[in-house]
Amino acid sequence: MIRVTDLKKIYRMGLVEVAALKGVSFNIEKGEFVGIMGPSGSGKSTLLHQLGLLDTPSSGRIFIDDIEVTRLDDEARTRFRLMHLGYVFQDYALVSELNVKENVAIPAITQGRILSECYVAATEMLEKVGLGNRLDHLVYELSGGEQQRVSIARALVNKPAIVFADEPCANLDTENSRTILELFRSVNRDLGQTIVMVSHELWHQEYFDRIIFIQDGLLEKERI
Ligand code: ADP
Ligand code: ADP
Repeated sequence: MIRVTDLKKIYRMGLVEVAALKGVSFNIEKGEFVGIMGPSGSGKSTLLHQLGLLDTPSSGRIFIDDIEVTRLDDEARTRFRLMHLGYVFQDYALVSELNVKENVAIPAITQGRILSECYVAATEMLEKVGLGNRLDHLVYELSGGEQQRVSIARALVNKPAIVFADEPCANLDTENSRTILELFRSVNRDLGQTIVMVSHELWHQEYFDRIIFIQDGLLEKERI
Protein backbone atom coordinates (compact mmCIF):
# COMPACT_ATOMS: atom_id res chain seq x y z
CA MET A 1 0.00 0.00 0.00
CA ILE A 2 2.83 2.42 0.95
CA ARG A 3 6.32 1.93 -0.47
CA VAL A 4 9.14 4.26 0.52
CA THR A 5 12.61 4.16 -1.00
CA ASP A 6 15.67 6.08 0.18
CA LEU A 7 13.66 9.00 1.51
CA LYS A 8 15.65 12.06 2.55
CA LYS A 9 14.55 15.39 3.95
CA ILE A 10 16.92 18.25 4.54
CA TYR A 11 15.57 21.46 6.09
CA ARG A 12 17.49 24.49 4.88
CA MET A 13 17.42 27.69 6.92
CA GLY A 14 19.89 30.10 5.38
CA LEU A 15 23.30 28.49 5.70
CA VAL A 16 22.15 25.97 8.27
CA GLU A 17 21.04 22.54 7.12
CA VAL A 18 19.28 19.92 9.22
CA ALA A 19 19.15 16.40 7.78
CA ALA A 20 15.92 15.16 9.39
CA LEU A 21 15.63 12.01 7.23
CA LYS A 22 18.85 10.46 5.95
CA GLY A 23 17.57 7.78 3.60
CA VAL A 24 14.78 5.55 4.88
CA SER A 25 13.11 2.67 3.02
CA PHE A 26 10.19 0.49 4.10
CA ASN A 27 6.78 -0.85 3.06
CA ILE A 28 3.42 -0.70 4.82
CA GLU A 29 0.79 -3.26 3.84
CA LYS A 30 -2.88 -2.56 3.35
CA GLY A 31 -4.82 -2.86 6.62
CA GLU A 32 -1.82 -2.59 8.93
CA PHE A 33 -1.85 -0.48 12.10
CA VAL A 34 1.74 0.71 12.20
CA GLY A 35 3.47 2.74 14.90
CA ILE A 36 6.38 5.04 14.06
CA MET A 37 8.43 5.31 17.24
CA GLY A 38 11.71 6.85 18.31
CA PRO A 39 13.13 9.59 20.52
CA SER A 40 12.21 13.27 20.23
CA GLY A 41 13.88 14.93 17.23
CA SER A 42 14.53 11.62 15.45
CA GLY A 43 12.45 12.54 12.38
CA LYS A 44 9.07 10.94 13.11
CA SER A 45 6.92 13.98 12.34
CA THR A 46 9.00 14.80 9.30
CA LEU A 47 8.46 11.27 8.00
CA LEU A 48 4.71 11.47 8.60
CA HIS A 49 4.51 14.88 6.88
CA GLN A 50 6.13 13.38 3.75
CA LEU A 51 3.90 10.26 3.79
CA GLY A 52 0.78 12.36 4.38
CA LEU A 53 1.69 14.66 1.46
CA LEU A 54 1.83 17.73 3.68
CA ASP A 55 5.42 18.34 2.60
CA THR A 56 7.75 17.18 -0.17
CA PRO A 57 10.97 15.26 0.46
CA SER A 58 14.42 16.40 -0.70
CA SER A 59 14.93 13.07 -2.51
CA GLY A 60 13.65 9.51 -2.59
CA ARG A 61 10.34 8.07 -3.68
CA ILE A 62 6.97 7.38 -2.08
CA PHE A 63 4.41 5.11 -3.74
CA ILE A 64 0.86 4.89 -2.43
CA ASP A 65 -1.21 2.17 -4.08
CA ASP A 66 1.36 2.00 -6.90
CA ILE A 67 1.05 5.71 -7.65
CA GLU A 68 4.35 7.53 -7.29
CA VAL A 69 3.02 10.42 -5.24
CA THR A 70 6.45 12.08 -5.12
CA ARG A 71 6.06 12.76 -8.86
CA LEU A 72 2.69 14.53 -8.60
CA ASP A 73 2.53 18.31 -9.04
CA ASP A 74 1.12 20.47 -6.24
CA GLU A 75 -2.46 20.37 -7.46
CA ALA A 76 -2.54 16.62 -8.10
CA ARG A 77 -0.88 15.98 -4.74
CA THR A 78 -3.50 18.03 -2.91
CA ARG A 79 -6.30 16.26 -4.77
CA PHE A 80 -4.80 12.86 -3.94
CA ARG A 81 -4.44 13.83 -0.28
CA LEU A 82 -8.06 15.00 0.02
CA MET A 83 -9.41 11.89 -1.70
CA HIS A 84 -7.33 9.13 -0.17
CA LEU A 85 -5.69 10.30 3.06
CA GLY A 86 -6.82 11.40 6.52
CA TYR A 87 -4.60 13.25 8.99
CA VAL A 88 -4.91 13.60 12.77
CA PHE A 89 -2.80 16.25 14.48
CA GLN A 90 -1.41 16.34 18.00
CA ASP A 91 -3.27 19.58 18.78
CA TYR A 92 -6.56 18.51 17.08
CA ALA A 93 -6.53 21.54 14.70
CA LEU A 94 -10.30 22.05 14.90
CA VAL A 95 -12.06 25.24 13.77
CA SER A 96 -13.29 26.95 16.94
CA GLU A 97 -16.00 28.99 15.20
CA LEU A 98 -17.73 25.86 13.89
CA ASN A 99 -19.68 23.27 15.83
CA VAL A 100 -18.65 19.64 16.11
CA LYS A 101 -20.73 18.37 13.18
CA GLU A 102 -19.57 21.21 10.90
CA ASN A 103 -15.92 20.53 11.73
CA VAL A 104 -16.27 16.88 10.79
CA ALA A 105 -18.13 17.73 7.58
CA ILE A 106 -15.31 19.96 6.24
CA PRO A 107 -13.38 17.31 4.23
CA ALA A 108 -16.65 16.05 2.70
CA ILE A 109 -17.67 19.59 1.73
CA THR A 110 -14.20 20.16 0.26
CA GLN A 111 -14.81 17.18 -2.02
CA GLY A 112 -17.90 18.89 -3.42
CA ARG A 113 -20.43 16.43 -2.00
CA ILE A 114 -24.05 17.59 -1.49
CA LEU A 115 -24.22 19.52 1.78
CA SER A 116 -26.98 17.46 3.41
CA GLU A 117 -25.02 14.31 2.55
CA CYS A 118 -21.90 15.78 4.18
CA TYR A 119 -23.77 16.32 7.45
CA VAL A 120 -25.21 12.80 7.34
CA ALA A 121 -21.70 11.40 6.87
CA ALA A 122 -20.37 13.63 9.67
CA THR A 123 -23.14 12.49 12.04
CA GLU A 124 -22.44 8.83 11.26
CA MET A 125 -18.73 9.25 11.98
CA LEU A 126 -19.41 11.14 15.22
CA GLU A 127 -21.69 8.31 16.35
CA LYS A 128 -18.88 5.86 15.57
CA VAL A 129 -16.46 7.77 17.83
CA GLY A 130 -19.06 7.99 20.61
CA LEU A 131 -19.99 11.65 20.20
CA GLY A 132 -23.43 11.32 18.65
CA ASN A 133 -24.84 13.43 21.49
CA ARG A 134 -22.43 16.36 20.94
CA LEU A 135 -23.20 17.28 17.32
CA ASP A 136 -24.18 20.90 17.93
CA HIS A 137 -21.63 21.71 20.63
CA LEU A 138 -18.83 24.16 20.04
CA VAL A 139 -15.33 22.77 20.17
CA TYR A 140 -14.33 24.52 23.43
CA GLU A 141 -17.23 22.86 25.27
CA LEU A 142 -15.54 19.47 24.82
CA SER A 143 -12.67 17.91 26.76
CA GLY A 144 -9.29 17.28 25.10
CA GLY A 145 -10.06 13.62 24.60
CA GLU A 146 -13.41 14.46 23.02
CA GLN A 147 -11.82 17.07 20.76
CA GLN A 148 -9.32 14.49 19.56
CA ARG A 149 -12.20 12.10 18.79
CA VAL A 150 -13.83 14.89 16.75
CA SER A 151 -10.60 15.31 14.80
CA ILE A 152 -10.48 11.54 14.20
CA ALA A 153 -14.07 11.62 12.92
CA ARG A 154 -13.04 14.44 10.60
CA ALA A 155 -10.06 12.43 9.33
CA LEU A 156 -12.38 9.47 8.64
CA VAL A 157 -15.39 11.21 7.11
CA ASN A 158 -14.33 10.63 3.49
CA LYS A 159 -13.40 7.01 4.31
CA PRO A 160 -9.76 7.49 3.33
CA ALA A 161 -7.65 4.43 2.54
CA ILE A 162 -4.94 5.58 4.96
CA VAL A 163 -5.12 7.56 8.19
CA PHE A 164 -2.00 9.29 9.53
CA ALA A 165 -1.88 10.39 13.16
CA ASP A 166 0.95 12.50 14.60
CA GLU A 167 1.23 11.92 18.36
CA PRO A 168 -2.57 12.05 18.74
CA CYS A 169 -2.37 11.22 22.47
CA ALA A 170 0.41 13.66 23.37
CA ASN A 171 -1.91 16.03 25.23
CA LEU A 172 -4.12 13.36 26.80
CA ASP A 173 -4.02 11.40 30.05
CA THR A 174 -3.66 7.62 30.05
CA GLU A 175 -7.37 6.88 30.13
CA ASN A 176 -8.15 9.19 27.20
CA SER A 177 -5.11 7.87 25.33
CA ARG A 178 -6.43 4.32 25.68
CA THR A 179 -9.81 5.41 24.34
CA ILE A 180 -8.12 6.95 21.28
CA LEU A 181 -5.87 3.91 20.68
CA GLU A 182 -8.83 1.54 21.01
CA LEU A 183 -10.80 3.71 18.62
CA PHE A 184 -8.01 3.51 16.04
CA ARG A 185 -7.81 -0.23 16.52
CA SER A 186 -11.54 -0.74 16.02
CA VAL A 187 -11.54 1.51 12.95
CA ASN A 188 -8.60 -0.49 11.63
CA ARG A 189 -10.45 -3.77 12.19
CA ASP A 190 -13.98 -2.73 11.17
CA LEU A 191 -13.25 -0.48 8.23
CA GLY A 192 -9.96 -2.12 7.20
CA GLN A 193 -8.18 1.20 7.04
CA THR A 194 -4.41 1.40 7.09
CA ILE A 195 -3.31 3.49 10.08
CA VAL A 196 0.13 5.01 10.57
CA MET A 197 0.63 6.62 13.96
CA VAL A 198 3.60 8.45 15.46
CA SER A 199 4.21 7.92 19.16
CA HIS A 200 7.08 7.98 21.64
CA GLU A 201 5.14 6.29 24.44
CA LEU A 202 6.46 2.76 24.86
CA TRP A 203 3.17 1.42 26.26
CA HIS A 204 1.41 2.27 22.97
CA GLN A 205 3.34 -0.58 21.36
CA GLU A 206 0.79 -3.19 22.43
CA TYR A 207 -1.77 -1.63 20.08
CA PHE A 208 0.35 -1.70 16.93
CA ASP A 209 0.60 -4.59 14.45
CA ARG A 210 4.13 -3.48 13.71
CA ILE A 211 6.57 -0.78 14.73
CA ILE A 212 8.96 1.23 12.59
CA PHE A 213 11.74 2.54 14.85
CA ILE A 214 13.50 5.68 13.77
CA GLN A 215 16.52 7.31 15.33
CA ASP A 216 18.55 10.25 14.11
CA GLY A 217 16.85 10.21 10.70
CA LEU A 218 17.43 6.52 10.01
CA LEU A 219 15.42 3.35 10.59
CA GLU A 220 16.89 1.31 13.39
CA LYS A 221 17.57 -1.67 11.14
CA GLU A 222 19.42 0.57 8.69
CA ARG A 223 21.81 1.68 11.40
CA ILE A 224 23.19 -1.79 11.96
P1 ADP B 1 10.31 14.03 15.88
O1 ADP B 1 8.96 14.08 15.28
O2 ADP B 1 10.88 12.65 15.96
O3 ADP B 1 10.39 14.75 17.20
P2 ADP B 1 10.99 15.92 13.80
O4 ADP B 1 10.68 15.27 12.53
O5 ADP B 1 10.01 16.90 14.34
O6 ADP B 1 11.31 14.80 14.89
O7 ADP B 1 12.39 16.66 13.69
C1 ADP B 1 13.56 16.03 13.16
C2 ADP B 1 14.67 17.06 13.08
O8 ADP B 1 14.33 18.03 12.08
C3 ADP B 1 14.88 17.83 14.36
O9 ADP B 1 16.26 18.13 14.45
C4 ADP B 1 14.08 19.10 14.15
O10 ADP B 1 14.59 20.17 14.89
C5 ADP B 1 14.23 19.33 12.65
N1 ADP B 1 13.08 20.00 12.03
C6 ADP B 1 11.79 19.56 12.01
N2 ADP B 1 11.00 20.41 11.33
C7 ADP B 1 11.80 21.41 10.91
C8 ADP B 1 11.57 22.61 10.16
N3 ADP B 1 10.37 22.93 9.70
N4 ADP B 1 12.63 23.39 9.91
C9 ADP B 1 13.85 23.07 10.37
N5 ADP B 1 14.14 21.97 11.08
C10 ADP B 1 13.13 21.15 11.36
P1 ADP C 1 7.07 17.29 17.37
O1 ADP C 1 7.37 16.20 16.42
O2 ADP C 1 8.22 17.56 18.31
O3 ADP C 1 5.77 17.17 18.07
P2 ADP C 1 6.63 18.79 15.00
O4 ADP C 1 7.69 18.14 14.22
O5 ADP C 1 5.20 18.49 14.73
O6 ADP C 1 6.92 18.65 16.54
O7 ADP C 1 6.89 20.35 14.83
C1 ADP C 1 5.87 21.32 14.95
C2 ADP C 1 6.16 22.41 13.92
O8 ADP C 1 7.43 23.02 14.17
C3 ADP C 1 6.24 21.85 12.51
O9 ADP C 1 5.65 22.76 11.61
C4 ADP C 1 7.73 21.70 12.25
O10 ADP C 1 8.00 21.79 10.87
C5 ADP C 1 8.28 22.88 13.04
N1 ADP C 1 9.65 22.62 13.53
C6 ADP C 1 10.07 21.56 14.25
N2 ADP C 1 11.38 21.66 14.53
C7 ADP C 1 11.80 22.82 13.97
C8 ADP C 1 13.05 23.49 13.90
N3 ADP C 1 14.17 23.00 14.45
N4 ADP C 1 13.11 24.66 13.24
C9 ADP C 1 12.01 25.16 12.67
N5 ADP C 1 10.80 24.59 12.70
C10 ADP C 1 10.69 23.44 13.34
